Amino acid sequence: MKPARFDYAKPRSLEEAVQLLAAGNGEAKLLAGGQSLTPVLNFRLAQPALLVDVRGLAELQGVTEAGDTVLIGAATTHAAIEDGAVPGRIGAVLSKVARGIAYRAVRNRGTIGGSLAHADPAADWLNVMAALDAEIVVRGRLGQRVVRGAALSVGPLSTVLADDEVIVRIGVPQLDRGARWSYWKFNRKPGEFAEAIGAFVFDPARSVARGLVGATGGAPAPIADAGAFTQRFDEAAAGAAVAAAGFARGSYEHQIHVVALRRAHQALDA
Ligand code: FAD
Repeated sequence: MKPARFDYAKPRSLEEAVQLLAAGNGEAKLLAGGQSLTPVLNFRLAQPALLVDVRGLAELQGVTEAGDTVLIGAATTHAAIEDGAVPGRIGAVLSKVARGIAYRAVRNRGTIGGSLAHADPAADWLNVMAALDAEIVVRGRLGQRVVRGAALSVGPLSTVLADDEVIVRIGVPQLDRGARWSYWKFNRKPGEFAEAIGAFVFDPARSVARGLVGATGGAPAPIADAGAFTQRFDEAAAGAAVAAAGFARGSYEHQIHVVALRRAHQALDA
């Protein structure tokens, strides 16, 4: 199928993009890399009257550092992150994640902001930014606000973003030297969307002990008592966390999500 007819706008500033979205009253949609939106349009699952192209907006470009936080422009491509655009230890972590997204042609165009906004439950950035407690900076008609990584998604392909809000940048805390991190996704072929995701971050210097069950079919599910995993993998706690994420004990889905957590724990870097 081909998309329904739409108008196309290429705003020169973030402000203009927000105005176009606000004036669109829910009928305008942002276009970034087009890797998720184009199929949605082709299948006519969405029929926006206007596409607002934000790929070239200066405000959404580049990677900078502010203290111990790395600020990644929303239009940064997966490929740029894979190629080392993000400095420091967190850069190495994110590069590895980026390398696991789809294949290079998709990574060349797909952006971190587009991926987060699309909020596919199995998407890598959605789960990684929830696990890292990233700060997602968004701008809309009413001004700027910060959405925590774990609070962005409210269900499959659904976020807390209003129709007139643009993701501008993502603030990711650097990992201390003593921090341990791991992200593991279960997929049948390299580059596919995950069937199950497990992630852990332990950073004693900041009193952080976080774990996450991902690819849940909805929002990423933080593990309530991730501290139980600090020293060793707690099989019972993992089973409980996966059940709390909505998977019935004994089911295939429950099993592969527990395996994802176990593999993530085994892969924790030191
Ligand atoms: P677009 O497709 O342009 O937009 C997606 C949505 O985000 C739209 O609703 C759009 O309006 C909105 N949007 C875009 N930018 C912004 C912004 N700055 N602020 C607010 N809203 C915005 N992803 C994975 O994580 N893991 C995978 O393994 C994976 N495999 C893939 C395999 C294939 C074959 C393909 C085609 C895609 C795959 N993807 C995967 C998805 C890919 O990562 C996309 O790049 C990403 O989901 C969307 O980014 P985009 O820049 O292309 O956004």
